[in-house]
Parts: sequence; C-alpha cells; structure tokens
Amino acid sequence: MTARILVIEDDEASRMLVTYLLEADGYQVYSASNGRDGVRAALEHGPDLILSDLQMPVMDGYEVARLLHADPGWRRAPLVAVTAFSMPGDREKALEVGFQDHISKPIDPERFVRQVEAYLSPSSRAVRPPR
Ligand code: MN
Repeated sequence: MTARILVIEDDEASRMLVTYLLEADGYQVYSASNGRDGVRAALEHGPDLILSDLQMPVMDGYEVARLLHADPGWRRAPLVAVTAFSMPGDREKALEVGFQDHISKPIDPERFVRQVEAYLSPSSRAVRPPR
C-alpha cells in the first residue's frame, strides 16, 4: 500500500510545496503546522514516515522527536528532519533526540520525492511510469 506521510512544517509555502510534490506522486499526506499538532497527528494516524521541520512555534521538532520516542503508543516510523541547519551542532542534536536523518532546505523539487522514498519500504513506494 502506498505510504502515508506526515509533514510537520510551520512555513505554509514549504508545507504546501512538500504536500503537493508527495500527493502528485500518489502519497497520502497528513500535515501539521506546529510540533504539538504534529505529535497528535503522528499518534492518531500512525504514518509510515514523518518529515519534520525543526524550528517551529508552539513546539519545535526536537521536542516532537523526544515526545514520540518516549510514547509507547507511537507506531514507530522513520523520523526525518527537513531543515536548513543554522547553528553548528544542530545536526548532532537532531540525531541525538531521535531523528534518523535529514533532508536539507531549501528542498529541490526535482529530487525531493526520491530523497523521501529512501526512507520507505519498496512495497510502500508509489508506482510511477518510468521516465
Ligand atoms: Mn520553521
């Protein structure tokens, strides 16, 4: 079954772009505009992959990772930061709190979906006609 992906991102333009790119390739996308709503959506929907910004109002991405990993009710899924690391040490801090990896911002619309698919099992990747 095609993967269900949760996108947690406070910047509306970024959130819409990522959602558009993933939906255009057949993925089911849930989105949240801050960490608190993101954690709620992660627990409610049990997505196959979570893409999260780090700097967000209300609750940041680091806290999202901490809370989810501490919650026995969370259906474990890869947690990937989508971020422009601004400070030295940010990347290490993200890995420390439980992010598996990161994708750099600004995203490259031509490559983004394939970057994301690296974190999905082959059977949950969208089927596309070859280019
Ligand atoms: Mn942000």
